[in-house]
Amino acid sequence: MPGAKISELLYQQARQVIPGGVNSPVRAFKAVGLPPRFIRSGKGSRIVDEDGNEYIDYVGSWGPLILGHAHPRVLEALEEAMKRGTSFGAPTRGELEMAQTITEMVPSIEMVRLVNSGTEAVMSAIRLARGYTGRNKIIKFSGCYHGHSDGLLASAGSGAATFSVPDSMGVPETVVGETIVLQYNKLDQVAACFNEHADSVAAVVLEPVAGNMGVVPPQQGFLAVLRDLCAKHAALLIFDEVITGFRVAPGGAQELYGVIPDLTCLGKVIGGGLPVGAFGGPRSIMESLAPEGGVYQAGTLSGNPLAVAAGLTMLRLLRTGEVYRELESRSAKLAKGVKDILAGKGIPHTLRRVGSMMSLFFNPGPVTCYEEVLTSDRGAFVKFFSRMLDQGIYLAPSAFEAWFVSAAHSEEDIERTLAAVEQSV
Ligand SMILES: *Cc1c(COP(=O)(O)O)cnc(C)c1O
Repeated sequence: MPGAKISELLYQQARQVIPGGVNSPVRAFKAVGLPPRFIRSGKGSRIVDEDGNEYIDYVGSWGPLILGHAHPRVLEALEEAMKRGTSFGAPTRGELEMAQTITEMVPSIEMVRLVNSGTEAVMSAIRLARGYTGRNKIIKFSGCYHGHSDGLLASAGSGAATFSVPDSMGVPETVVGETIVLQYNKLDQVAACFNEHADSVAAVVLEPVAGNMGVVPPQQGFLAVLRDLCAKHAALLIFDEVITGFRVAPGGAQELYGVIPDLTCLGKVIGGGLPVGAFGGPRSIMESLAPEGGVYQAGTLSGNPLAVAAGLTMLRLLRTGEVYRELESRSAKLAKGVKDILAGKGIPHTLRRVGSMMSLFFNPGPVTCYEEVLTSDRGAFVKFFSRMLDQGIYLAPSAFEAWFVSAAHSEEDIERTLAAVEQSV
C-alpha cells in the first residue's frame, strides 16, 4: 500500500475551508479515528484514492451505486443528456418517463414528485401527510434516519416514549415536540401510542428495513401490523425507502414484504449516482400537492435533466429483475463466509442481511432495534475497519452502517474480501 500521505494533506487543507473537511459528517472517519481517504476515481466494484490505493468498495456512495461505479450505460446517458443542456426549469420528457417508470415499478405509487435528495423527499412527504390529514404528530423509530430536516432529528428522551429531544443543536424543541420516537420492531409501543394520541397522529414513518443503525430487518408481522394500525387510526404509513427502494427488490421493501404504504420516499439508487429523491403515493393523496392542492413543495433543479437521465437508465437496467438474483447469491456468499470466519474464531457477532445490504455487529445478539445495536463492541469494529482498509477493503467507517454489495462485485472480489476478513479478525 502506498500509504495515505496525499489524502492526509488534502484533509488538512480541506479542514481550513470546509467544516470538518467534509460535506457530510460521516465521511470524516471520526468514528474510526483515522483521516478519511480522498477518492479520485471509481470503476465497477473498485475505487482508487489520491495516493493510488485501490479498494474493493462496500460503501457504493452510501447505497446509490447498486450497479457499481461509472456504469458505462449511465455514463452514456449522461453524455447524451449533457449535450442537450443541463437545466431548463421547465418540464421535460425525461421527467415524464422517469415518473412512469417509478409508478410501474413501485407498487404503492400512482403519482410521484421528484426532488433532489432523500432528506427533501422525506421532509416533503411529512408535510404532505400533515396537510392531507390535518394532523401534526409524527411517529418515528429510534435508529431510523430520515435525513436532516428539523422534525426528524429527534431521539427519545429518557422516561416516557412520548417525550422527544432534539438530536442536534439548532433544532427547536417545539418542532421535535411533534415527533414521537418509539423503538423499532416494538409493536406494543405503537399500539399504546395510538391509544394515547388517537386523533393527532398524521403519520408513522420508518425504514421498512432499517439501514442506518446497521441493517435491522423488520420482524415477522411488524410492517403488516403497522399498516393495520395506521388504517385504523386514519394516519398515513410512510415507508422511507431511500435505501431499500430498487435495492432489495425492483419495487423495494414494499414488494419484498407485500405491505403497501400510503407514501413512499425514494433516493439513492433512484439517481444512478446523481442527486435525486422522490416521494409518491396514491393519486388521492398526491393531488394535495401544489399546484393541484394546497401543500406547497418546489425545487429549482428538481427533475434535473442530467439526474433524470442517470436515474432513468439505472431504473431501466434494474427493472428486469435479473440483477437481483445475482446480488442475492453474491451477498449470501459474502455473509455466510463472514459468519463462518467469525464463528470459527469464537468472536461474538450477529450478521443481519436483506439482499445486498448487510451489517456485521460485534454483539452476540439479538439485534432487532437500536437499543440492542448499541450494545455492539465499537472498539472491535474500529480495529476491524482499519485492518480491512489496510488490505484494500473499503467499508463504511462506522459500526452502525450497512455494507452494500453491487452487481459489479465479482466472485473474486468476494473471495478477496473474505480472505481479508480472515486476516483482520
Ligand atoms: C440517506 C437517507 C436519507 C437522506 O437522504 P439524503 O440524500 O442524504 O438527503 C433519508 N432516509 C434514509 C433511509 C436514508 O438512508
